[in-house]
Amino acid sequence: MSKINLDQDKCIGCNTCPLLNPEVFEMDTTTYKAKVKSQPKTVDEATQSAIDSCPVQAISVEN
Ligand code: SF4
Repeated sequence: MSKINLDQDKCIGCNTCPLLNPEVFEMDTTTYKAKVKSQPKTVDEATQSAIDSCPVQAISVEN
């Protein structure tokens, strides 16, 4: 199973990943950075799109 990692040190809080896949990503209201809400079973199109769209490459997949 793949694991999504989100590096909050890199995240600039642009809100793109929760917009593209609110099932997997959400904004942390204390830090204003994104976090993984729930690990997806597979890296589907919406998740991949969020990974590709992150302006600072903060999201990666661990296989
Ligand atoms: S797309 Fe990247 S920079 Fe934007 S909120 Fe998500 S992790 Fe943070």
